[in-house]
Amino acid sequence: MVVVGGGLSGLTAACSAAGQGASVALIEKQAFLGGTTMLATGTIRYADEGDGAGMVQAILDEGAPFREEGSQFPITDYLDAIGEVSYKSTAIYNAAGLNMLPESGDGARPYVQKPDTSGKAGGLYIKQLEPYLESLGGTIYKSSPATELILDDSGAVVGVISDTDTSKKTFNAGAVVLACGDFARNQELIKEYDPESAGNFTGTAVGNTGDGLVMAVKAGAAVWDDMFSMGGAFVFNPYDSHRAGMKASETLDNSLFVSLTGERRIKENASSKFVQAVFINENEGDGCWDIMDAEIAKGTEVPIDEMVAANGGARIAYQADTIEELAELTGIDPAVLGATVDRYNELCEAGEDTDFGKDAQLMVPIKTPPFYAVRSYCVTRGIAGGIKTTTSAEVVREDGSIIPGLYASGAIASRPFYGGAYQGAAALSVAGNMGYIAGENAAKTALEK
Ligand SMILES: Cc1cc2nc3c(=O)[nH]c(=O)nc-3n(C[C@H](O)[C@H](O)[C@H](O)COP(=O)(O)OP(=O)(O)OC[C@H]3O[C@@H](n4cnc5c(N)ncnc54)[C@H](O)[C@@H]3O)c2cc1C
Repeated sequence: MVVVGGGLSGLTAACSAAGQGASVALIEKQAFLGGTTMLATGTIRYADEGDGAGMVQAILDEGAPFREEGSQFPITDYLDAIGEVSYKSTAIYNAAGLNMLPESGDGARPYVQKPDTSGKAGGLYIKQLEPYLESLGGTIYKSSPATELILDDSGAVVGVISDTDTSKKTFNAGAVVLACGDFARNQELIKEYDPESAGNFTGTAVGNTGDGLVMAVKAGAAVWDDMFSMGGAFVFNPYDSHRAGMKASETLDNSLFVSLTGERRIKENASSKFVQAVFINENEGDGCWDIMDAEIAKGTEVPIDEMVAANGGARIAYQADTIEELAELTGIDPAVLGATVDRYNELCEAGEDTDFGKDAQLMVPIKTPPFYAVRSYCVTRGIAGGIKTTTSAEVVREDGSIIPGLYASGAIASRPFYGGAYQGAAALSVAGNMGYIAGENAAKTALEK
């Protein structure tokens, strides 16, 4: 069988299939594996054997405020499916040497784990799983983009072609798993499937141009409706994040976020930042101004003076002696910004954020000049949506029938797992666990042939 895409979903699918005894080829478009997974922080929702319901409930609870009235999403059957197999994916990760540990420390969430490292862990999954797959007998073909699915006369998928300027390879296969990630790098597809997100900055991998989605649709696959951008990471410079792999967030939890017209909309330390994006996107644009005084500004990763002095390209930072002057520099009505800062300071003095419920220890008043405003941009972690599958990762047509031999997992088929917003640690769980399911079922299909 063939797995298309070498992110967490493809690698987990391939390991799961190889573990079933299937002969597996994993083909990757880029000269290296990793996809968006490589850029991820690495937190993943998981459950021990028999405790899938606990993980599902944790996801549902966190997403509850963002469930949209009348929407079919999230579809709990899909969450149940990943909850049930999660311990099997964890077993693969541990066998690959990842040493998965429950999240710990301040703000630790239940049913969330991470490879054993103090830093970002996305790359570790790839570093460990790539040789592990090879140790299981899997073969990896890099620089080999899938360009076409091979269908037989009955409409079943029986292989993949990788046709480039320099090589053409044909992979005949008993089953194919599409794990090509999302399509946040393809503006044409975004305009078609998620027009609201057109033009947004993205932190996803460069190869995620929706090839798998296009190939699947050509083979008759249905797509989910109501796709949406998994926005929510705020960064001061979206271009840096493209190059270096976006940090989960560059912004400070103890600063004050105001919309582009100067109003506070949210608590700044909201979970995984996705809340910020939802609220800000629903208002005036894809971002906010991060307001700080001299004390708070000591916490920025790039020194604030450097940001103000450079003030070029996408990085925009202003310094002023008064809030009024700061408002003028940012183009905000001084009366609005003044009122917002006054109200925020009042809440800080009272020690309780009765407006938005921000944690008390992060309520630091904006009072010591000079004052700063840094433009913060919302960067998407991908488009939730993609190809329709069953809970067994079989790709389905519009009439609900299954396309024999074709499976999909991960960001490419992710809509049913979310309500109205991305939830931290859920995307890797979707990628890994649906990858496990896709690999297991595709292996069965291939081995039966
Ligand atoms: C900065 C950042 C931080 C994040 N942090 C977290 C986190 O901590 N926890 C969490 O749960 N989620 C996180 N996410 C989201 C999560 O990383 C992704 O949703 C997840 O990694 C998707 O995995 P995937 O395997 O489906 O796709 P990817 O990892 O994107 O892999 C897809 C692969 O398919 C390849 N491909 C594409 N087209 C073809 C083709 N035609 N032929 C062959 N190969 C192809 C791509 O090159 C890529 O390697 C984060 C996202 C970002 C951007």
